[in-house]
Amino acid sequence: MPLVRKKLFVNRPVVQDFLKKVGGEAAVGVTTLCEKKGRCVTDEELAKKMKLKVTEIRTVLNRLHYRGIACYKKTKNKKSGWYNYTWEIKKKRVLELILEQQQEMIEKLEVKKSFGEQYSFFNCKNDCEITPFEIAAEYQFRCPTCGETMTSFDYRKRLEDINRRIGELKEEVGALRKLA
Ligand SMILES: [Zn+2]
Repeated sequence: MPLVRKKLFVNRPVVQDFLKKVGGEAAVGVTTLCEKKGRCVTDEELAKKMKLKVTEIRTVLNRLHYRGIACYKKTKNKKSGWYNYTWEIKKKRVLELILEQQQEMIEKLEVKKSFGEQYSFFNCKNDCEITPFEIAAEYQFRCPTCGETMTSFDYRKRLEDINRRIGELKEEVGALRKLA
């Protein structure tokens, strides 16, 4: 019978990008291992599996802990008297944070979009900066950066890009909501 591979949420590019940003390169590996195990894992176990130093794993876990993504349980080893730390990754928290971030990005793009729909813009041939009409007029349509003449800038292409990006983000948000 063929093995049915469960689709790991950590395989989604948006999740990987987010984890790397928050916890560094090794954060994806740490999360993957925790998700595959489906239980709490010790930092030593993670270090062994990932062939990294325990201190490196702890740095990643501490970063993730700071954002509420990783949490630990402390238990005393009766034999050695040392403490063991077992870690767990809160998938729900990861999704929550990504959704927050995506929502913020959508809002920023919506602002850009309405800005682009309301104003007319100018730019120079060197493409220094897209400038609203009033500001370009103040500079007498001379680019403040390079001194070239600024001419009317067609914002439609830019709006198309913005709309497409908003669409992509909304789709991603929808897909992530289903996982949460
Ligand atoms: Zn210029």
